[in-house]
Amino acid sequence: MSNEIKSIHEFDFNLICEYYSSLERQGPGSPEITVKALSFIDNLTDESRIADIGCGTGGQTMVLAQHAPGQITGIDLFPAFIDLFNLNAAKLNFQDRMKGIVDSMDNLHFQDEELDLIWSEGAIYNIGFERGLNEWRKFLKTGGYIAVSEASWFTEKRPAEIDEFWQSVYPGIDTIPNKVNQIQKAGYIPVATFMLPENCWTEHFFAPQARAQEAFLKKHAGNVTAEEFIAFERHETQLYYRYKEYYGYVFYIGRKI
Ligand code: SAH
Repeated sequence: MSNEIKSIHEFDFNLICEYYSSLERQGPGSPEITVKALSFIDNLTDESRIADIGCGTGGQTMVLAQHAPGQITGIDLFPAFIDLFNLNAAKLNFQDRMKGIVDSMDNLHFQDEELDLIWSEGAIYNIGFERGLNEWRKFLKTGGYIAVSEASWFTEKRPAEIDEFWQSVYPGIDTIPNKVNQIQKAGYIPVATFMLPENCWTEHFFAPQARAQEAFLKKHAGNVTAEEFIAFERHETQLYYRYKEYYGYVFYIGRKI
């Protein structure tokens, strides 16, 4: 069956953007989990500089702004997401301390040692976990933090179907100890690691999508690409319910040494 399901890389970016623009989040997570990850970070003041890389429309960035001081820059590759990000920031009256910018995470335009905190929920896989940790480190001050959520295996072994799915969408997925080791090797102290609870997927990621899918299919009735894209999303959801004891998202927090 998995052979018939297209890879997400094969779909039209405009369609993907349209679909995800209608959602508050573009990846698994929740406001509670953003606040929990933030509780491990103790160096922030009004002068702090924070970057949220792969911020999407800013669901988690708005939570950050509500719970942390400092100037926040949201970075995303897609202009439609950044437009929504800036609208969301203005709605909450954060326009003086938040700014969304279109840029690519593999070619960021920060100064060396400019940042106190790098945040990235469900997005570092786009550059790869290790590469992101290594390339972004120079932008952090010594003692600055990195907080990222990343798809991870919970067990050493897993059924072939879920293994093959992840090898096709993100071969960089790895076990929690291996990820922690990568953090240490990249020049950070692994400060905290915790698994995202199931409701970050079910309630905050899949439930809003189920509603959005109906509207999206109605709007694009007869469009085979749109139908295949939704079939892919639904397949991903079913796999999660079937195999959730083997994988999920994990928050990793490191401090630059
Ligand atoms: N952090 C958000 C979005 C996660 S989805 C959330 O948790 O809801 C991953 C995001 O990474 C998307 O918004 C996508 O547009 C962005 N992205 C993908 N490739 C990128 C790149 N090269 N540079 C910056 N952002 C990128």
